[in-house]
Amino acid sequence: MGKLKGFIEFERTEEGLVPVKKRVKNYNEFTLKPSDKKLKEQSGRCMDCGVPFCHSGCPLGNLIPDFNDAVYNNEWEKALYILHSTNNFPEFTGRLCPAPCEAACVLGIINPPVSIEMIEKYIVERGFEEGWIKANPPLNRTGKKVAVVGSGPAGLAAAQQLNKAGHSVDVYERDSKIGGLLRYGIPDFKMEKNIIDRRLSILEEEGINFFTNKEVGKNYSVNNLKKYDSIVLCGGATIKRNLPIKGSDLKGVKQAMDFLKLQNEVVDGLNKTTEPLNAKDKNVIVIGGGDTGSDCIGTSNRQEAKSVTNFEIMSKPNENRTDENPWPYWPFKLKTTSSHEEGIHREWSILTKEFIGDENGKVKSLKTVEVEWIKKEGERPQLKEISGSEKLWPCDLALLALGFTGHEPDLIDKLNLETNISNQIVTNNYQTSVSNIFSAGDMRRGQSLIVWAISEGREAAYQVDKYLMGHSELETKEKGDLPTV
Ligand SMILES: Cc1cc2nc3c(=O)[nH]c(=O)nc-3n(C[C@H](O)[C@H](O)[C@H](O)COP(=O)(O)OP(=O)(O)OC[C@H]3O[C@@H](n4cnc5c(N)ncnc54)[C@H](O)[C@@H]3O)c2cc1C
Ligand code: SF4
Repeated sequence: MGKLKGFIEFERTEEGLVPVKKRVKNYNEFTLKPSDKKLKEQSGRCMDCGVPFCHSGCPLGNLIPDFNDAVYNNEWEKALYILHSTNNFPEFTGRLCPAPCEAACVLGIINPPVSIEMIEKYIVERGFEEGWIKANPPLNRTGKKVAVVGSGPAGLAAAQQLNKAGHSVDVYERDSKIGGLLRYGIPDFKMEKNIIDRRLSILEEEGINFFTNKEVGKNYSVNNLKKYDSIVLCGGATIKRNLPIKGSDLKGVKQAMDFLKLQNEVVDGLNKTTEPLNAKDKNVIVIGGGDTGSDCIGTSNRQEAKSVTNFEIMSKPNENRTDENPWPYWPFKLKTTSSHEEGIHREWSILTKEFIGDENGKVKSLKTVEVEWIKKEGERPQLKEISGSEKLWPCDLALLALGFTGHEPDLIDKLNLETNISNQIVTNNYQTSVSNIFSAGDMRRGQSLIVWAISEGREAAYQVDKYLMGHSELETKEKGDLPTV
């Protein structure tokens, strides 16, 4: 434990933010690094709990009190070693994770929790600055070949672990650049893409081969995968949920991911203009209140939309935890992201009934109705429309941020894999119904989080290694491995 009574002496601190007016002028990240003194104090708030609930909150099982202690004692390289022992890419989670560890932090019972995610980010950033993060290729190769399909966080984590075990790893990606939703979904203002490139060059140096513009099952036949001893499918959950109501085929009713991808490509220089799908001077309505919706709000404000409104069908959450949702469970409370702070009108308990178009077939307004959720003991809440609450909203661009419903069936069918009713690949310890094919990330568990994708990629790699070699030395939550520090 870094500092006895540190949790009494110091308060929670967070990263500073560039003021809204300035940051919406560009797509850069806008967080400000706290001083080393502040980071030390923050890590000194950790109580090194006998039962560190932060561990169980984290899908990776990050060794949080251990790295907090190292930071407090100015042992940053040791902190980095501890962090990397459970997390291949702390620079992604340190920026993008909703931090279930903080929601589970014991300090959170009486005080704001330790700023674990911020500490994680600055440990890994320090590692890059100091040159401590270097390629670490395996000393020996096993002669086994593995193909990883999909290069999001699940595919990248699986690839790095399998390469570390000495297998030769080829990653196939249908997009023109590596990274999955990290590159094409998440806007640069949340994570600049040089953060992915910096890590990729290390993975390449370690010996992993990346093949882009190769869509397995389409322009790259599944027969080509026969040369591999094992295959790990990490293709994500890519089918976008639709809103099948009147007018949904009008011009100006678009999928959020199409909007975000185009802007990300323009920032990356892969595309010249967002012109076909731009929010400038438009009344934008974002339908759906999750991460994707929030990213559309931040992007619309940067594109200088005339107005930005967000519809959420669920009722407005409480500002704080309720008695039915106690610590250490994930708090279902009102979330206000930095994108919300940049300007948004939010509506809850609202259902879109119809998109109304003009004479050119372009959306001009949305018809909505207010709803209430009727709860009955032992039953799922029922949606009830409130009569007389119909309203028209002017709208030039409607963005559907309604989530994803699994992976396209094509590849899964060609490989003859069993799926469940939620369109997820059925696995047993990440192994599919075909013995040498494994799966991880959103493609297996359904749309989720980066931290889960990394965790699943690591665990799937462990299972593949065991399948190929009969045993595995890779770290895994299954064995409850802890690194030696
Ligand atoms: C807009 C948006 C914002 C988000 N923000 C956050 C956030 O802030 N924090 C967070 O934790 N999570 C966030 N998420 C969720 C997170 O991005 C995903 O859970 C995570 O990326 C899933 O990782 P994955 O590797 O399983 O899949 P993906 O990242 O989806 O990667 C799958 C890859 O497989 C490729 N692929 C698919 N089929 C084939 C094929 N046949 N051949 C070759 N390649 C193929 C795809 O092109 C893609 O690159 C967000 C999601 C979205 C959409
Ligand atoms: S639960 Fe919070 S205070 Fe306890 S060990 Fe984890 S980070 Fe430290």
